[in-house]
Amino acid sequence: MVDYSTKSFWLGLTPYQENPPLQGELRVDVAIIGGGFTGIATAYFLKQAAPSLHVVVLESHVVGFGASGRNGGFSMTLFGLTMGTTAFRFGKDKARQAQHYMERAVDLVDQLVKEHNIDCDYEYNGFLRVATTPAYARRIQKEIKLAESLGIEGIEWLDAKRTREQVNSPLYLGAWREPRCAILNPAKLVRGMKKVAEQCGAVVYERTPVQEYHSGPKLRLVTPQGAVIADKVVFATNAFSSFFPQLRSRQVPIHTHIILTEPLRPEHFAEIGWQNRQGIEDARNFVHYYRLTSDNRLLVGGERTQYYYGNRTDIDEHRPTYRVLERFAHQAYPCLQDLRVAHHWGGPVSGTLDFAPMIGYLGRDKRVVYSLGCMGHGVSLSHLNGQTLSDLILERQTERTEVFFVNRRYIPLPAEPFRFAITNAVLDLMRVQDWWDESKGLGKVNHTDD
Ligand SMILES: Cc1cc2nc3c(=O)[nH]c(=O)nc-3n(C[C@H](O)[C@H](O)[C@H](O)COP(=O)(O)OP(=O)(O)OC[C@H]3O[C@@H](n4cnc5c(N)ncnc54)[C@H](O)[C@@H]3O)c2cc1C
Repeated sequence: MVDYSTKSFWLGLTPYQENPPLQGELRVDVAIIGGGFTGIATAYFLKQAAPSLHVVVLESHVVGFGASGRNGGFSMTLFGLTMGTTAFRFGKDKARQAQHYMERAVDLVDQLVKEHNIDCDYEYNGFLRVATTPAYARRIQKEIKLAESLGIEGIEWLDAKRTREQVNSPLYLGAWREPRCAILNPAKLVRGMKKVAEQCGAVVYERTPVQEYHSGPKLRLVTPQGAVIADKVVFATNAFSSFFPQLRSRQVPIHTHIILTEPLRPEHFAEIGWQNRQGIEDARNFVHYYRLTSDNRLLVGGERTQYYYGNRTDIDEHRPTYRVLERFAHQAYPCLQDLRVAHHWGGPVSGTLDFAPMIGYLGRDKRVVYSLGCMGHGVSLSHLNGQTLSDLILERQTERTEVFFVNRRYIPLPAEPFRFAITNAVLDLMRVQDWWDESKGLGKVNHTDD
């Protein structure tokens, strides 16, 4: 049995009471596969919209075992890779639509946390996307111009002086400032939402992997000690979706990593400032993102990512990345040299070839829906997607079901070995662009594995 508490600092931080696994055969209206943010939010919204439905969630390990219990805890508006990439791939109107959807997603998490009084160390502190090289300053300013041209409000450019007044780093040349962003403890959020969904009548089975999925007049899911016959099924399996052949061509699991230091001391804050405790990201393709935890540790994530041959999702550790992240933390905040890295972990996110999420019906069968491709930006998105999935299951046309990435066309990924080659070619291209953007000026990090 996998020890989930070692999978992230968050998952091991507070005691957790697991639900028993499914035993025997069940007949239900809706079976949801996967107990992350998406699966739990879908269960919640289904029970809200149609209280008489019998809704169950089947989770392989425990709720939050996947990305939902391991992420950086930024509830933010970023969709896909950048606004510019979305505008390039889908057009400006759709980039505006995506931003508005994401704004609603951040607001939704805010509302859920407050309405249900979920204890998840929630802090609505805003967001800085910092420029650490002249090339990144230009990239951010271009993105701000694009946002303005789309009529998106609330985002502004801070020059180097004003940025360093907020958070003092020798790397900062300016920043995108956006008030709409919260930081939180993701394991507490997903466990809190599990309780809320259960109070609404959803039933959650843990240690219940779905081993087989059979489509036919009835949908049948087989688990180690039982089976579920369902009228409708939701695949909320994110990066783990490649297990199901029906979803394999739509996404790849990409591994990303985090380090967490010991708590900062008052002398560190005297140097760095950071009184407003914003979430911070830089403008690389392989971003560095960082924030403070409720007990004032520095969490730093991002950098290089990995795709493992054959869609593997079980290789969570990557020591070279931890070393680069630690070096970066010292470069951003030299006064933290004396602070030890106390925890590190990793996990898979779901990536699509065009960096955009997709949700919708699985082919022509309106009984089956899925959600994939939230990349590293699914904390807020997966909650609103849960509401959209609930609309789709109930076959209700809403503003949410009309957004462009619902039932969208996608670029299919081939089988191995081509999948490995294509995915790594895309990752390498992104790496080369980061190297180029950092080859002059500040922000250059030593990426060797020494
Ligand atoms: C290290 C890391 C940092 C991140 N940081 C951020 C961040 O700061 N901000 C942000 O917005 N996003 C971030 N993300 C992304 C975000 O965490 C995800 O987009 C989001 O959690 C996806 O939620 P989900 O419910 O769709 O998937 P998951 O949380 O991955 O849930 C899928 C669940 O399905 C279960 N499952 C899989 N197969 C089966 C099966 N056969 N039977 C039953 N159950 C199954 C898994 O065990 C898992 O619990 C990060 C991700 C990682 C890995």
